[in-house]
Amino acid sequence: MLNIVLFGPPGSGKGTQATKLCEQFNLTHISTGDLLREEIKNETPLGLEAQKFMDNGILVPDEVVIGMLGSKIDASIEGGSQGFIFDGFPRTVDQAEALDKLLELKEANVGKVLFLTVDEDELVNRLLERGKTSGRADDQNEEKIRTRLQEYNNKTLPVAEYYEGQNKVNKIDGVGGIEDIFCALSDALTDIIPA
Ligand code: AMP
Repeated sequence: MLNIVLFGPPGSGKGTQATKLCEQFNLTHISTGDLLREEIKNETPLGLEAQKFMDNGILVPDEVVIGMLGSKIDASIEGGSQGFIFDGFPRTVDQAEALDKLLELKEANVGKVLFLTVDEDELVNRLLERGKTSGRADDQNEEKIRTRLQEYNNKTLPVAEYYEGQNKVNKIDGVGGIEDIFCALSDALTDIIPA
């Protein structure tokens, strides 16, 4: 199994690039943000619990997200998945440790962490722009966007250090054309994906 974490702040282009990488390398895309929005749409108890955090730009509690992710991994493997691109997960060191344990149970691991870097002013502009069409409450105003970036800096950035300790991180400039960034991401995978 090939497992890749696509890492980076909100608005760095993880969703766009994850979709392309999954097509290219025949992997399953797991976006915890998308899974949570699906739960909200279906008005499940998990969705109702998560919504109050998400609408305010705060991370959903680890136990909620980790449980949801575990079920999704199991269902995808049963469906024949060959590996995953994780987008928006892990967002805390506890989540990263939980992911290692979940994958260990499948005799698998995280092969590579691709870290998309984008400076903060550019992120705010991108998210405000996206908010005009995304319909997402958390993209709509600058204060919520700043809260999300604060959450990222405080709780999520340490995850990069966690994986740096395992020598798995490749930093990629997330500013530029979508295709150019996709090429840079794909190139970074050549040592773990045979051509
Ligand atoms: P995203 O679509 O990845 O930008 O996520 C939108 C929101 O969903 C975040 O601001 C969090 O409130 C929540 N969320 C998504 N993934 C996670 C995660 N791994 N851990 C905690 N909260 C998450």
